[in-house]
Amino acid sequence: MNDEYTRMEAEMEFEPQPPDKKNVAYYAPATLEDAERLKTENPGFHYLGGGTILNWRGSPRVKGLIDLKSLSLSGIEVTSSQIIIGATATIQDVAGCADLPKPLSLAAGLFSSKNVRNMATVGGTATGKFFVSDLLPVLLAYNADVEYFQGQAKAVMPLAQWLNDRRGMICSVILRQLQRSVAFKQEKISKIDFPLIVTAIGWDIADKQIHDPCVAISGASGKIVLSQSGAAYLAGKDASAIDVDALNAAVQQDVQPTETIKASPRVKRGIIASHLQGIVRELRKEGTL
Ligand SMILES: Cc1cc2nc3c(=O)[nH]c(=O)nc-3n(C[C@H](O)[C@H](O)[C@H](O)COP(=O)(O)OP(=O)(O)OC[C@H]3O[C@@H](n4cnc5c(N)ncnc54)[C@H](O)[C@@H]3O)c2cc1C
Repeated sequence: MNDEYTRMEAEMEFEPQPPDKKNVAYYAPATLEDAERLKTENPGFHYLGGGTILNWRGSPRVKGLIDLKSLSLSGIEVTSSQIIIGATATIQDVAGCADLPKPLSLAAGLFSSKNVRNMATVGGTATGKFFVSDLLPVLLAYNADVEYFQGQAKAVMPLAQWLNDRRGMICSVILRQLQRSVAFKQEKISKIDFPLIVTAIGWDIADKQIHDPCVAISGASGKIVLSQSGAAYLAGKDASAIDVDALNAAVQQDVQPTETIKASPRVKRGIIASHLQGIVRELRKEGTL
């Protein structure tokens, strides 16, 4: 088995031995409280979004599924000050929503097929369990927050922090910093495959200077990387003075690409370098720089 799969399945706490497949429990609770109770009272139960990860490579190796479909979490709400995307909104919902920022809907539309887009949810994507993601780097580049349910109450925290803390059930992903400049690039071996590497950059510009930059890379080594060195290089810079080679040198310090069947670490580093170049070029063309 490929290392990426092994790491992912271990992180998801799949059962080492498949449980009796005929006896996988299934619940579709109608309240957040019931969903959380089922999760805390039953070790080996998992929240079920679209099931593209949980059902991938055979029946789920879990004791029970808590389907989130009856929790009314599938809406997308767009106002001038914020965007709230419900956890069970599908990737196709995001791809097809004309009111969302372009980078977001474009990234969602790049998922490998419409079948996967129709199943996979925004909540399932935001958990960052898959070893590469089209959408997660873009959400991070927007400094997205998540609303989550834990301890019988809702709370909000930055998505970047949730990926470390992994608190409770994600109810929605919230974008408040809609003024941010965001661009991304991704690389695929074939159109119907998932991507090899996805790179996204987001920042604010004030007085011609970059503020609060974010450089997010998915696919290099399993978990998404938020490059602190890349962000430190960009922060406070006059946007027109970015040296892409220097940015690349900074970002490469923070990624440790792993060898996979599709690409060597050297190839992955090369892709990241070309993504950074392309993103900076694209933002220049848009007149952001
Ligand atoms: C064949 C295939 C092709 C793919 N192609 C692409 C691609 O092109 N681009 C790409 O980016 N990704 C791709 N993926 C990965 C895909 O993004 C993820 O599988 C998907 O986004 C996960 O969403 P889901 O709703 O299906 O998650 P599920 O499988 O339902 O759940 C995944 C994990 O997240 C947990 N979870 C789900 N919802 C929540 C929630 N609201 N709160 C807390 N935990 C939750 C579950 O318990 C589980 O641990 C592909 C996957 C497959 C199997």
